[in-house]
Amino acid sequence: MLNLSVLLESTARRHPDRAALVCGEQSLTYAELDRRARQVAEAVRARGVRPGDRVALIGPNVVEFPVVYYGLLKAGAVVIPLNPLLKERELAFIFGDSGTVAVFAWEGSEQLPVLDNARRAAAGSPTVRDVFAFGDLPGLLAPHPGTADAEPTGAEDPAVIIYTSGTTGTPKGAVLSHVSLLLNARMKELIVPKHDHDVVLVTLPLYHIFGQTSVLNGNVHGGATLVLLPRFDPDTALDLLVRHRVTLFSGVPSMYQAFLQADPDGVRLRKAAETLRYLTSGGAPLPVAVFERFDRLAGLQIRQGYGLSETSPTVTACPWEEPIRPASVGKPVWGVDIRVVDARDRPLPAGEVGEIVIRGHCLMLGYFNRPDATAEAIRDGWFHTGDLGRFDEDGWLYVVDRVKDLILRGGYNVYPAEVEQVLLTHPSVALTAVVGEPHERLGQEVVAYVVPRTGQQVDVTELTAYARERLAEYKYPRRIEVRDELPMTATGKILKRALS
Ligand code: AMP
Repeated sequence: MLNLSVLLESTARRHPDRAALVCGEQSLTYAELDRRARQVAEAVRARGVRPGDRVALIGPNVVEFPVVYYGLLKAGAVVIPLNPLLKERELAFIFGDSGTVAVFAWEGSEQLPVLDNARRAAAGSPTVRDVFAFGDLPGLLAPHPGTADAEPTGAEDPAVIIYTSGTTGTPKGAVLSHVSLLLNARMKELIVPKHDHDVVLVTLPLYHIFGQTSVLNGNVHGGATLVLLPRFDPDTALDLLVRHRVTLFSGVPSMYQAFLQADPDGVRLRKAAETLRYLTSGGAPLPVAVFERFDRLAGLQIRQGYGLSETSPTVTACPWEEPIRPASVGKPVWGVDIRVVDARDRPLPAGEVGEIVIRGHCLMLGYFNRPDATAEAIRDGWFHTGDLGRFDEDGWLYVVDRVKDLILRGGYNVYPAEVEQVLLTHPSVALTAVVGEPHERLGQEVVAYVVPRTGQQVDVTELTAYARERLAEYKYPRRIEVRDELPMTATGKILKRALS
């Protein structure tokens, strides 16, 4: 029997008085976090939530999120963490799809009425019995007699359902077990050199698997102090890095790009570098140009990792002992097998590009109530990622692009990420997204959207010539469009679908 919440319990025993969470003026010790989580478990049990019941948790990075998250896990409930930006219709779909019985929601604001959206979606649901506001927690947490330990849970039982971001279609719920998440959280021990007391800045949303496993669970297990930032903005994040003497930071590439935009001379980054000892990036490709600017400006080296919601998430990381290969996402982590295969699932040798497939303890149990989609994704025990990649001779993995984003121009494959890497080496370009747009004769044409760096202008003719000089004739963008910003998902991925 095993429950993911043992992570918190063991740290609360080792470091009861250490600050676990800091958010603005609020702060909670490990003993306090564990006590409140137990109270949530008791409260939901008293209201009829049974092991295996699905409970939604909607909110940004505020202290109530981990309190409710671990409380629900202790009760044996299956947590469905959700983005507070979801609207009533989207919530209603997820409540219906998963058979949610209760909801915990952050209040939100006038512009972002999270609780109201949740209440309206719940009102139309035949399964949701209760909607609790984060603000109601103190009343809900009134001591319950005989606070019991975590509900014994089978290691292979579902712990969390992550609804995939839906950048590609109807959301599906990836069901993750206690043991998959626990092993992934403990991955940090194997990847990051030991340190007595880490301080982590948490800007990645906790409802997303990257923030939840690698940042929250991994660092709670390690006894770190987590500084929560409810809404990412680069200036506040840079201030917090310095003020809290942060030692670990994980972000998506757009956050690193935002740091460079906010601190182009690296003054604050150099200050932060005095304590920062480990930086990771995942969720999307980290442009080599961004890696190099961090290294040059502040001597900070960003290590990429790779993973998906369906793999709990981490499947690769950069080994500490080896020099970083900036374009690579690292090597497979312990207990995970990765292959690159052709269209008929045959393994390809090093150097050849194919689909990345994954096997191991990290795999989801399946998509909730979607045996067809599960069977399509997991074939012969291998999860098909939909990502294109290649290994080098030394076993480092390179993610080339999404299969779906591949551009087919006049019979040639163009990998948008490769074109983006080149455009980002130009001094006037801060952000870019390259997409294929329909073309009568060629099938698709290569089009680039670019956002200029602060204080710079993009000269489209000159940038086109720059790309043409560095890329084969069939690859360079025939059209470049300058934008003030690019549409992003809440987790910092550029929403390419919204561009073309
Ligand atoms: P999600 O399930 O939302 O975590 O998204 C997973 C997807 O993010 C993967 O299928 C990849 O396309 C992408 N991804 C994650 N990490 C990386 C990385 N280091 N480089 C490139 N793409 C990545």
